[in-house]
Amino acid sequence: MDSVKNRGFRLPKNVWVILCGLLVLAAPVVYLSAGREATARRESFAMDTVVAVTLYGGSERQLQGALDAAFAEIYRLEGLLSAFAENSDIYKINQEPARAAGHEVSAETYGLLARALSEAGSTGGAFDPTIGALTALWGVGTDRARVPSEAEIQRLLQHSGWQKVRLWKEEDGPKTVYRVSIGEGQRLDLGAIAKGYAADRAAAVLRERGVKSALLDLGGNLVVIGRFKGQRDWRLGIQDPLIAGSAFATVETSDSTLVTSGAYERYFEEGGVRYHHIIDPSEGRPSASDLLSATIIMEQTAAAENSTRSDALSTALFVMGFDRARAFLEEHPEVGAILAYRRGGENKIFITEGLRGKVSVKDGALAGDGAR
Ligand code: FAD
Ligand code: MG
Repeated sequence: MDSVKNRGFRLPKNVWVILCGLLVLAAPVVYLSAGREATARRESFAMDTVVAVTLYGGSERQLQGALDAAFAEIYRLEGLLSAFAENSDIYKINQEPARAAGHEVSAETYGLLARALSEAGSTGGAFDPTIGALTALWGVGTDRARVPSEAEIQRLLQHSGWQKVRLWKEEDGPKTVYRVSIGEGQRLDLGAIAKGYAADRAAAVLRERGVKSALLDLGGNLVVIGRFKGQRDWRLGIQDPLIAGSAFATVETSDSTLVTSGAYERYFEEGGVRYHHIIDPSEGRPSASDLLSATIIMEQTAAAENSTRSDALSTALFVMGFDRARAFLEEHPEVGAILAYRRGGENKIFITEGLRGKVSVKDGALAGDGAR
């Protein structure tokens, strides 16, 4: 049996993984199939969510080593990138924004911030890694959640904007020093991109160890390596945003990443109004999107580590709303998406062209009333 690091518990969100028609929400155990081909699964808690990794094929010893290495990578990245972990690069920057000399960070943090700024640019700021002061103000998902005053929101909006982040390198003898500074009153929050990055890196670790068939689920941020048991495409279910515990569609795919953002998981209610965790950076308040959920599906291989981008895009497309999201997808045909949205009093589903034929929508999809 595997040990579980128990740091609280929240059920995996967004995505159910359907293997052989079986809903996998199992406890952390290692299954051993007959013969030399093993199956290993481990579930743990990281980045404030449930992380589960399942591996197929190879010896038990090889798979256990691979699981150890993948989880070590995920915990390492949490320590580097979490806005909540004291001593992380991000925490350090947030403690003292607008520091003229900037903050020295690891090459890796620097690289991810560069990617985050690039996604912010490509999405017209719908994804904004400097949203941290606003997410902290609203506190959705924490015990400090509350509706702030308009004056509080406006004060923080004055400081907002990913364009105020500066990244630069300095040469110190043979060493390159990576520096970051953010604008006055700003705070970085990589909550909409770092799980995708961790999924990409953990998948790379597994591939380096020769794993040919695997499923990584970082709180609904999925990567599948190869094919299911090397035999057929994986069947991944997408959470129905209106019916708790039910998938509204399944996708058949391999070597891919699938990431969903929605307003139905992290929220609080006040005065009969639901306030969720995806903030519209131009408004400073939870996005009034007409999307119920945005799922991004992209190729994920050693040469195309797209879970990072998919994570940022799932959040960005949600903020954009259906019309802008669709226009974005037309300009970026490499990005596959399934958008559940509300139009004219009806709930609808949009699937990008490249995915048609791989997606099956279930009868009764999006027919719930959203009660959880
Ligand atoms: P996504 O749509 O992928 O991301 C939404 C999250 O991104 C929001 O919760 C907010 O943080 C941020 N965000 C909101 N709007 C925008 C926007 N327009 N642009 C960019 N970002 C936006 N949570 C805790 O409560 N405690 C922790 O200790 C903790 N540690 C974490 C460590 C790491 C490394 C990461 C990546 C996240 C951590 N989280 C923690 C956050 C928690 O996992 C978030 O709820 C999660 O990232 C939300 O992801 P999602 O997939 O639900 O939604
Ligand atoms: Mg995201």
